[in-house]
Parts: sequence; C-alpha cells; structure tokens
Amino acid sequence: MGDAILSKLPRKPAIRKTVQIIPVSDSALMFKEGKKIQAMRGGAVSLMMERLIPLLDGSRTVEEIMAPLKDINREEMLKILGLLHIRGILEDASIVALKMSREELKRYESQINFFSRFHPEKYKFQEKLKNSRIAIFGLGSLGVRVLSGLAWAGVGEISAVDGESIGEEDIARSPFYDREDLGKSRVQTAAKSMGRHSPFVKFSSSEKKVRSSQDIRSLVKERDLAVLCVDRPFPAVSHWMNEACLEEGVSWISGYLEEDEGIIGPSVVPHLTPCYKCYELRLKGNLTHYDEYMAYERYVWEKGGDQREFPKLDPFAEIVAGHLTLEIVKILSKFAAPVTYGHIYTINFFTLEAKLHEILKLPRCPACSPKRNIPSRKTWDL
Ligand SMILES: [Zn+2]
Repeated sequence: MGDAILSKLPRKPAIRKTVQIIPVSDSALMFKEGKKIQAMRGGAVSLMMERLIPLLDGSRTVEEIMAPLKDINREEMLKILGLLHIRGILEDASIVALKMSREELKRYESQINFFSRFHPEKYKFQEKLKNSRIAIFGLGSLGVRVLSGLAWAGVGEISAVDGESIGEEDIARSPFYDREDLGKSRVQTAAKSMGRHSPFVKFSSSEKKVRSSQDIRSLVKERDLAVLCVDRPFPAVSHWMNEACLEEGVSWISGYLEEDEGIIGPSVVPHLTPCYKCYELRLKGNLTHYDEYMAYERYVWEKGGDQREFPKLDPFAEIVAGHLTLEIVKILSKFAAPVTYGHIYTINFFTLEAKLHEILKLPRCPACSPKRNIPSRKTWDL
C-alpha cells in the first residue's frame, strides 16, 4: 500500500508557491490558494506543521524526507504525502526547465506559478509557449497590444505583418514606438525595439499590405497559429485569411473592434472546427437587409477597407486585446480549453456584457467541406 503511493508521489515534493498554509487549531490545518480552501483535520496536524512541512521545500527526495521521521509510522507518513499530492498542494521540484534560461524563468515566474495550478509539471505550459511560432497580421491599436502581450507571455517566435507607418495615436499605445519614430514603418520599428522589450522572442517582420490569400499563404506557412487583428471592418481580409490557412493547414483566430462591440473568433482549426465561411454564410443567411449588406461588402472590398472614421475610446482595444491574448495563450499552451472553437465571443463596451455564440460547421461549406466540389444530387442532399 505504502509503496504504491510512493511510486505516484513527486520525486522531490515541494509545497506549491501559491499555497498558503495556515494553522486553524491543534487539529486543523488550512491550505489556501486564492478562493480555494482545503482543510486537513486530525491528530497528525501538529506533527505535519512541526516536522513534515518544513521538509517539503523541494530539496529532498521522498526517502530523504522520511529519514528524519523514522519514529513515525511510514505508512501514515506516505498517506499524508499522497493526500497532499492528490489535492494539488505539491509539485515536483526535480523537474527543471531544460529549455529556458535563468533570466527567462525569472521573467515568467508569476505565469509559471499560475500554470502550476493545472499540472505538477509546471514548466510544460511555458515551454509550449516558447516552442510556438505565430504570425500576427495588423499592428493597429489592437494588434500592437496583442503583439506586446504575446511577447510578454513568452511566445518563442513571432512574425508580424503590417503595411502602415507610425502615426500619433500609435505612439501612445505601444511600448515599441517613441516620438522620434513618427512616420517610420510600424512593423520595422517594432522589430528594432523587440530586443529591448522582449529579448527572448525570435521576431521577424514583413512590411506589406496583404491583398489576396496568395499574399498570406507564405506568411502563415509552418506557423502554429495566425492571428488577424482588425481595427476597422474589412471582410475581404478574413476571406483571404480563411482560404490561405485552410490551404496551409494552419489554425487561425481574429479579433475585431466593431463600433460598440469587440468580437473575438471563431478560432479555426482547419477541417476540424467551423471555418470563417461557415460562420459568415450562416450570418448572411439571417440578415434582414441582405442586398444592402452585400453592396456594403463590395464597396469596402473595392476600397480596401471601410474608410469611415471609427471613433473609439482607448480601452476598447485594450479590452479586446486582453481577451484575445488570453485566448491565444490557451490555444498555444493548452493550460485550459479555448472558448472560441466553434464559437464567437462578443463583448459590449458599454454594458461589458460578454456572450458566446455557437457556430456550426456548414455541411456543404464551399471553403472547408470535403463535399464542396461534389454537386448535390438532390436539393435536400447534405
Ligand atoms: Zn467552412
């Protein structure tokens, strides 16, 4: 029984840094982590406080912990350790982050400790971020914040695509630009200051305005995720992105600011989740003013984006960037399930009401369905 527990325990057990141990009485001990409270009660509590817990600092193996506790029943001790382990109070200090430098571990310490809530091998999520390669399209008020957030989260390789130059409003919003950068290329200036901001990120830049799915294909090739950040409506770019990513088998996600609402998703995993076309065709199918919308879409397509002024408050982009960055960190690290697979997430800037809208795969989607090139034999044939 004892040895069965032994084989499941961390090699070098340590109390996780985010757990606070608070004595309640001689026979009750509280383990508090945020709002989560766990209690242990019984005669062994004072023994734990005085003799066992000081040994759980990660510097000893289980046998080394047991050695000075020989006067106590071994089975009992192993049971207590097993209980602490099952309750997620212990981590394994023998597991080290092989691929990260001391400086990286220091920078991401808070994030790594957060990840320790989800798995005893706390470095694995951070390592996944470090091994990720992403492409961001658009460094406007939304994209530049997402770039900064993902660099700060420790994504290993980021390429950014943008064709605009730095304006007055860009300076206030980005840690990458200074006043003397006014008029310079947004993406190239970001590349220059990335070393100062996030030296551990391998950053590359493409100064261009995309005008077709062909333009996008080479930019998303072999990326784990492509991210489209749009400050003003331009449906064509989502079409191109969808087409290019389906062709290249690359997942993608988008974030938009649309007047009084922020829109995130859907996250498209090629041929697994509903694609952008699945979403768009269903959306258009429900439009009251279909012809008028199509005329608007054609107009915007020809103009290369909606040319109106889009007055906004600065926090709008901040809100969407924060939610989008979090969703991307989930997708890449897998510490929790992303909410935008098969869903659109919207947040209203005035009421702060957030909603998840389900999207279904369109059986004969012209972009992602395997049946898209096979004519239907009957009108009801899916
Ligand atoms: Zn589709």
